[in-house]
This record gives sequence, C-alpha cells and structure tokens, in this order.
Amino acid sequence: MSEPLLEVKHLCKYFNTSGGVLHAVDDVSFAIEKGKTLGVVGESGCGKSTTGRAILRLHEPTSGEVLFEGNDITKYSMKQMREMRKDMQIVFQDPFASLNPRKTVSEIIAEPFRLHRTLTNKTEREGRVLELMETVGLAARLVNSYPHELDGGRRQRIGIARALAMNPKFVVCDEPVSALDVSIQAQILNLLKQLQEERGLTYIFITHDLSVVNYFSDEIVVMYLGKIVEYTSAEQLFAHPVHPYTKALLSAIPVPRVDAKKERILLKGEITSPINPKPGCRFAPRCEYAKPECFEKSPELRETEKGHKVSCHFAEQF
Ligand code: SF4
Repeated sequence: MSEPLLEVKHLCKYFNTSGGVLHAVDDVSFAIEKGKTLGVVGESGCGKSTTGRAILRLHEPTSGEVLFEGNDITKYSMKQMREMRKDMQIVFQDPFASLNPRKTVSEIIAEPFRLHRTLTNKTEREGRVLELMETVGLAARLVNSYPHELDGGRRQRIGIARALAMNPKFVVCDEPVSALDVSIQAQILNLLKQLQEERGLTYIFITHDLSVVNYFSDEIVVMYLGKIVEYTSAEQLFAHPVHPYTKALLSAIPVPRVDAKKERILLKGEITSPINPKPGCRFAPRCEYAKPECFEKSPELRETEKGHKVSCHFAEQF
C-alpha cells in the first residue's frame, strides 16, 4: 500500500447510558489510500455510522488515533478541526433530514462558504453555487427551490454539492442511497463514482447493503457489534469470505436469475449486548461453529493470508 490518506488506529467510541457503557466502536483500525474507497458494512447498530462520525469528530472519539495525511486530528483544537473540515466532508443518509427546510437550494449549497468565511462576494458565490449544481446534475432553474419541492434523488444531489463546496479530499458517504428509490440509487452511485474519478476523492462508503458496496469499494471492512470481523479487498471478500458472519451477510444478497439457487444462512441466537460487553467473541451466541473458548476469549483481528484479516479463533478451519 502506498502512503494512506487516512489511517485509523485502535479507534474506540463509547457512550455512557443508564444501563452502562455502550461500546459502539471498539478498537477499530484500518487505512485508506488516496483516491480509493473503503466500504464499511454491517447490520444496523454495528457501529459503522459511529465510526464515520468519530473519524470526522462529529462524535468525539473515546480513544485511538485518526491520522489524516500523517497528522493525528484527534489532537487538533476546535479551530484546527474547523479548518480540517474543508478537506473532510460527509454525505448523510437522509437528505431531507440533513437539509434545512427553510433554506433554498442556493443557500444550502453556499452554507460552507458562510461557515468558512470564503467567497464573500455575492456574484462570485452565486456563480460557484451554479457550478456545483451543474457538477452534481442539478438544473440551474432549481436554484431558488426548497428541499420539500424536490424528489429524494435531487435532495441527495444538494447534499453532495454542499459536501463538495470546499473541494474536500475525503468524504464519508453514510448510507447515501438507502433512503432513495431503487431507480434513483444507481444514478447517485454513478455520480459519486464519477466525482471520485474526476477529483481523486477518497471515500468511506458506509452501508448495510453488500451488493452496493461491492460495486463501489476497493477494500471492505465488515463490522459486528462495534468490532471489525473481516477486512480485505472487495474481490477477495466476495470470492472467499471467511468469517461466519460475513458468509451469512453474503448469503442474503438476492441473485438476479430466476433459475439461480442460493442457500441463505439464517442467523439464530440472541444478539450480545454492546453495553458492558463480556470477554469472548461477540458473534458467539449466533455462530453455528462456536466452541467453549469463543465465549471466554475475544478473537484478535489477524492476517490469515496476505491482505486478508479475520477476527475468529478458527478462521483457518473455514
Ligand atoms: Fe464463531 Fe468462535 Fe469464530 Fe466467533 S471465534 S466467529 S464464535 S468460531
């Protein structure tokens, strides 16, 4: 791997709750090369969105390092972080909830200029907004529209234009298409891909949908209850998944052929609580291969072959 743009080391994000400490993200480490995409997948509650937000410090990390171009931004002051946010942006899942309903398309896209006190000249600012609208495929006639007057696809295009306003290097795409109609999902994915190629953007692409992440990612991490259980290239993950949880997720992807037969692995057993988790593999209560040792000792994420990491005591046996 050449020099990574982003390196996350032993990142933890815990939340205090009335029932105890919730380990939402627990000792997560990975790296992303410039211009590449890392897919982060898992079921709801696995910590994937919290990971994205902790990287941007929208949730303050409990511990760990986030190295951006070699500098640990968890040590940055709020002022330094504000400056960093020009380079590090996010596209949210629900475009409607993330856009101010009382602002026009133009005002929303221009928000970053106001926050960073750039482009104070009105004519220049309006020109740049129109440029950004064209970049994301929004017609100029919509410049004075409000979010509620637009469909989900167009609203997500506004979110993308706003994220691109300061010419970032890195974007967290947090379930960017899961709130959209299937017919519109492909358009937004193609747009994100095209923008990456044109601008050399580096993405973290967070999703619960493995079929989407395959199309989009160079490497993939699979998360389960705050932990990475498997981490490898997209190609390797789909060809040779190892962790029993990854295999179950992959078995749930529909096959687009009427005659195709695929056996779905149904996970049974209770989901371990991420609040004050006990030692042991967090997947053990749902794992058909679990042995007594799995309930006592937490497996490390370790390389089982070159470029393929798995967190399972018995990975070599699968
Ligand atoms: Fe299953 Fe044990 Fe491996 Fe966990 S460590 S995935 S419980 S076999």
